[in-house]
Amino acid sequence: MSAHSTSLPSLVIVGNGMVAGRLLDELLERQNRDGAKHYEITVIGAEPHGSYNRIMLSSVLAKDTSVKAIVQKDHDWYQSKGIRFISGSPVTAIEREAKWVETACGQRVSYDELVLATGSRAARIPAENLDLNNIFLFRTIADTEGMMQVAAGASSAVVVGGGLLGLEAAYGLAKFGIKVTLVHRSGWLLNRQLDKQAGAMLKTVMQDMGIEFCLGDEIASFREQNGSVCGARLKSGRELRAELAVVATGITPNAELGLEHGLNGQRAIDVDDFMQSSAANISALGECIEHRGATFGLVDPLWRQAETLAARLVNRELVPFENQAIATKLKVSGVQVFSAGQVQEQAGQRAVVIEDKQARIYRKLIIDQGRIVGVVLFGDVRSGAHYFDLMQAGKNVSADLPQLIFGQEFAESPGDKELAA
Ligand SMILES: Cc1cc2nc3c(=O)[nH]c(=O)nc-3n(C[C@H](O)[C@H](O)[C@H](O)COP(=O)(O)OP(=O)(O)OC[C@H]3O[C@@H](n4cnc5c(N)ncnc54)[C@H](O)[C@@H]3O)c2cc1C
Repeated sequence: MSAHSTSLPSLVIVGNGMVAGRLLDELLERQNRDGAKHYEITVIGAEPHGSYNRIMLSSVLAKDTSVKAIVQKDHDWYQSKGIRFISGSPVTAIEREAKWVETACGQRVSYDELVLATGSRAARIPAENLDLNNIFLFRTIADTEGMMQVAAGASSAVVVGGGLLGLEAAYGLAKFGIKVTLVHRSGWLLNRQLDKQAGAMLKTVMQDMGIEFCLGDEIASFREQNGSVCGARLKSGRELRAELAVVATGITPNAELGLEHGLNGQRAIDVDDFMQSSAANISALGECIEHRGATFGLVDPLWRQAETLAARLVNRELVPFENQAIATKLKVSGVQVFSAGQVQEQAGQRAVVIEDKQARIYRKLIIDQGRIVGVVLFGDVRSGAHYFDLMQAGKNVSADLPQLIFGQEFAESPGDKELAA
């Protein structure tokens, strides 16, 4: 059993992903502010790397950046900050009575405070032969490097999932000059972020990049040749060639470690407003948690969770975490998408829309009793942040409609208002 021979309490963080990295920053900032160390910190991560910017894996795949450039905390960083870092070995057991965790290698580490930041993994699909070689779930540096290696020698690929991640994967693979077909269950792309019209525009733009689409369809099975994928059969009966497949249909929280050791939770580890789990001295944050029934898939709320937890652990301050609406963007060069709140208007709500099919510009504001409750922008997203602020503030924009749909400037300049009217 390893423990620090010091009088400071021991803080063990399990998981070394994006939110763990942010939590360390928050803890160190408070430590610097106070001029005193509060904990002996140990971080245990399943991946061999230090904390890296997972978001940028799409850009690594698209060859716009490198793995090296996205590692935010390398092994030396932990050492320089006096943080013990155990990498490449997942924690497999928690002993709550005696307060220690054990890694897959059998290493035990004692804790006074334990933080679970185990994130999530790519969801599996119920397709036959999903475990063939060269079928990737898009989540880690290892997945991305594997995809790039296969893509370099392949001529065709199938991407499953027409959400943000699937589209970014398709775009990245298309840059290898291979034929990419994206299969999506819904009738239009980004169906959670865009309405049908904007989704159709997105499809046209991405078709121009050489990507093909099979919408309203699903993978029934993958075909095998010498242990590797060589194609896919769709539920519609259509056959696709594929020497490489990427599955990006959603995420599953890595909550088993917590739930199997008695923490409360349904889909993920249940935490209160202060990131406290149902067990004393065990906190959790990031994509492995559920908070008031909600789970997470984007980093914005995770940063606020890290602030809340650091404030409680270091300063004993109780700053409640509040889940808020977030805006989404797509990281595909040349494609501008902005979406927040509702995507589809409901009975009694007003939709203010402009569409220029030729210029491939589409804008929609959904208004409920004078307030913005949804924003869908395609092609020109310049006023996205402004609409989002108005939505968050719950401001009544009735007086600025319909001019507001032309952008912030039109709603604010009387001259332009006349033109637009
Ligand atoms: C390709 C890609 C693009 C993305 N793009 C965006 C974007 O544009 N915008 C956005 O907001 N979000 C994006 N995301 C989502 C974002 O990356 C996640 O929201 C964020 O990484 C979640 O942080 P986390 O720390 O909770 O989980 P993770 O970053 O997944 O980290 C969890 C870590 O815990 C480790 N772990 C799991 N179990 C154990 C265990 N038992 N013991 C030890 N370690 C363990 C895992 O190996 C992993 O390293 C993207 C994700 C991907 C994959």
